[in-house]
Amino acid sequence: MAEGVRNVIIIGSGPAGYTAGLYSARALLEPLMFAGYMSGGQLMLTSDVENFPGYPTGVGGPEMMVQMREQAERFGLEVHDKNVERVDFSSRPHKVWVEGEEFQADSVIICTGAEAIWLGAEGEEAQKGRGISTCATCDGAFFRDEEVIVVGGGDSAMEEATFLTRFASKVTIIHRRDVFRASKVMYERAEAHPKIEIRPFRQVKSWTSDENGLTGAILEDPRDGGKEEISCTGAFIAIGHKPITQYLEGQVETDDEGYILHKADTMTSVEGVFAAGDVVDTRYRQAITAAGMGCQAAIDAERWLEDQH
Ligand code: NAP
Repeated sequence: MAEGVRNVIIIGSGPAGYTAGLYSARALLEPLMFAGYMSGGQLMLTSDVENFPGYPTGVGGPEMMVQMREQAERFGLEVHDKNVERVDFSSRPHKVWVEGEEFQADSVIICTGAEAIWLGAEGEEAQKGRGISTCATCDGAFFRDEEVIVVGGGDSAMEEATFLTRFASKVTIIHRRDVFRASKVMYERAEAHPKIEIRPFRQVKSWTSDENGLTGAILEDPRDGGKEEISCTGAFIAIGHKPITQYLEGQVETDDEGYILHKADTMTSVEGVFAAGDVVDTRYRQAITAAGMGCQAAIDAERWLEDQH
């Protein structure tokens, strides 16, 4: 075993994790965080955050995550940029394993968020990283003066498409129906952009490619099955996310899609194990709601720990 039993181990490092870290550090619980090899969560892949209160001119996602981390570390949050491989919540103290090493804690706060879903269309696997991406912020600059498509009808699709206009000569948004989940402001910004074309009632059936990478996609109209080909050298999939819970191996109750269920306030089905942020949230999924829930989980963990002694 690595060291003595900690009060709190926090798994994951998005807004939920860092806020849980900030609150539990300020409660003098000396929290230990496993932030993951790619710390910061989904906001590391986001360009501008304009809806987090306190930033009147917006803030870059990665910049905000660096600031959240610094703020929590200032109060003593200990952060390791490593992944948790497995856990054992069957007896107390709770155990987590990181690079084969065992760590123990009386309470655990799970904040591992969610990850992008791929379309799974024919030819996709071979073109991942060779033209097909789930992150415009990461890969957009590779498509300077090229034509790209974005798949999806939510805020992510609008944001990715708008961001891609910085590089691409043309951005086509492909969406399977004509109703958009995106917020009005983000939809209208995309729709008004001269480089963006929105194509409703289109689904990607398969991808086309040559030896240089992606060349286009075969689209299908879900209403009548009609097909057409679109040319593009880049494609960005923005069709939502799935919760990151594989390492829990079913030890806390989840819904059918794998989102963790709260049993009492932010406590999961396991006593002393709490969860916050996108890993539980199928409804709001905002940086601000994740941060708020991270605060709740830290307070719940603190009170639960007090009750144990
Ligand atoms: P989302 O709102 O769930 O939208 C997913 C989109 O992908 C929907 O249009 C959906 O179509 C489509 N889709 C799902 N599966 C598909 C498939 N197999 N084939 C084709 N299309 C498919 O996801 P999101 O855009 O990632 O947003 C998630 C949350 O993050 C939201 O709460 C959003 O407000 C928030 N967010 C906020 C910002 C921001 O404010 N800066 C930026 C990004 C995201 P249907 O509508 O037909 O189901």
